[in-house]
Amino acid sequence: MNVVLLGAPGAGKGTQASLIEEKFDLVHISTGDIFRANIKGGTPIGKLAKSYIDAGKLVPDEVTCEIVKDRLAKGDIAGGYMLDGFPRNIFQAEELDKFAHIDLCINIDVDISLLMDRICGRRVCACGESYHVSTLNGATECKKCGKPLYQREDDNPETVGKRLDTYFKQTAPLVEYYEKQGKLFTVESGKLSPKEVFAVIAEELERRVK
Ligand code: AMP
Repeated sequence: MNVVLLGAPGAGKGTQASLIEEKFDLVHISTGDIFRANIKGGTPIGKLAKSYIDAGKLVPDEVTCEIVKDRLAKGDIAGGYMLDGFPRNIFQAEELDKFAHIDLCINIDVDISLLMDRICGRRVCACGESYHVSTLNGATECKKCGKPLYQREDDNPETVGKRLDTYFKQTAPLVEYYEKQGKLFTVESGKLSPKEVFAVIAEELERRVK
């Protein structure tokens, strides 16, 4: 099964992606992670992407679509994959439909008022785990692998404001796009814990796998 994970920055896409990957064996493809790896490696794509990411803007569509197309050309995705952070606008969704078949779009819906605090308090690990400072009790290392936690450069109030603006203007219309295709499954994360959100998603995935 090929899945798109949709949700505002801070909705918990990364956390859910790790849980889904573990249980359903779907290859997790995050465009944000691909850009960050390129920035770390000092590649030309990384240099280009950094200026957009730091400004809270989307990296140009041509670059992003090409990266995803190349990634989906690899054999390891034959058993199914999950796109996290792509598509981010209607153009990317239409391009994706030209080179891939998406079965399901999981939309994680979250109260907007929670997002700023969630993102600015986020601490992440290179292994993919993500925490909120309020639950760390001062710990500075990942509970899963022991590596040091850090704050993403774009998780600061100014950039987050721009990212949320970009999300509502460009990405939110994808909810309707996938609804019209009959592929949308929305989970209202509201007051649910990440585990409870995952239980709802897992139930839906199991139903569809059967
Ligand atoms: P994320 O880790 O998904 O929050 O992505 C971090 C940043 O990478 C975003 O704020 C964008 O600047 C950039 N980015 C990630 N995915 C895309 C995409 N599909 N299209 C354009 N830019 C993207």
